[in-house]
Amino acid sequence: MSKPTLGIIGGGQLGSLLCSAAKKLKIKTIIFSDDQNAPAQNFSDGFIYGKYDDPNKINEFINQVNIITYEFENIPFKTLDEIDKKKSVLPKPSINKIIQHRLAEKDFINNLKIRTTRYIYVDKRSQIENAKDLLPGLLKTTTLGYDGKGQFFLNNIESVKDLDINFSKGYILEKLVELKKEISIIITRFDEKKYEIYEPIENLHEDQILKHSRIPADISNKILEQSKLWSIRLAEELKFIGTMCVEFFIDKNDNLYVNEIAPRVHNSGHLTINAFNISQFENHIRAVCKLEQIPIKKISNAKMINLIGDQISAYRKKNYASNEFFFDYFKKEIKQKRKMGHLTTLI
Ligand code: AMP
Repeated sequence: MSKPTLGIIGGGQLGSLLCSAAKKLKIKTIIFSDDQNAPAQNFSDGFIYGKYDDPNKINEFINQVNIITYEFENIPFKTLDEIDKKKSVLPKPSINKIIQHRLAEKDFINNLKIRTTRYIYVDKRSQIENAKDLLPGLLKTTTLGYDGKGQFFLNNIESVKDLDINFSKGYILEKLVELKKEISIIITRFDEKKYEIYEPIENLHEDQILKHSRIPADISNKILEQSKLWSIRLAEELKFIGTMCVEFFIDKNDNLYVNEIAPRVHNSGHLTINAFNISQFENHIRAVCKLEQIPIKKISNAKMINLIGDQISAYRKKNYASNEFFFDYFKKEIKQKRKMGHLTTLI
């Protein structure tokens, strides 16, 4: 059978890294992005620039590819669903519908008896005033929030009075967890009970943006097993095809909570490119293109640092040792808080 051409919606660094992995497998890639400067076009075989609701551009894209996947979860559900009617989209758009909405996502996880932080849905200020037991807490938009965007820390009832937001948009108020650690699990599901799961990755955030990741995570065996079991359960329940990430909190009493699910390859899994025989990106391509599932094997322990904003400039000039792997995302403009590249070190 000839190799399919893979269409990828979204053109950021995750798209770039997917394209590089596809190249290794001799699979052609076409990026569709609403950003004319999308960095992934430097790594793909083709590039289509267009708005995500432009039917002509969507058709142009669909006609050039055999299978479609995406590298960020906030593509309008309607768009994904329309595309899926004409050409198979993996993971399925119905999964996105759940995960795009923090309330639907948290309800879905809790219904499986998997622990999350305590939360309530809020669309009126008075609801927070009546939920004092959830303070200190975080108020998060139900849609389109990432890297701490659209999040407000509420220390006490006084801070609620100062909030200048449009409540009717809908929010989730989440109890603040006294964090001991954050970990994530990357899992690629190929089919029913067929998956490859990476060991937990320990993550450190600065200003709510991922800064450092490392393996092995310094966690108990119990947490290791529980986080894996929950991740497998979530992937199976979602009937997920491809690579996804489950982000976890561990509190001071060693309780594990699912923070959120990313229905795509994930920043914390960048170290899998160098630390494993098969990366999260290659596994995603293998799963969505129905290629062979190869058991993953760790080559080395590793740590990764995200290069954010103008931090990239110094790294562009450095020389690297043979255990260091520098990735430049070739973004046109350096912006504060923007992920510009990363460095993985095998340890
Ligand atoms: P999120 O965008 O929801 O993944 O949040 C980004 C980061 O903010 C997380 O990785 C945590 O470091 C922090 N954070 C978010 N929600 C909570 C919470 N309920 N308790 C403690 N820290 C949180």
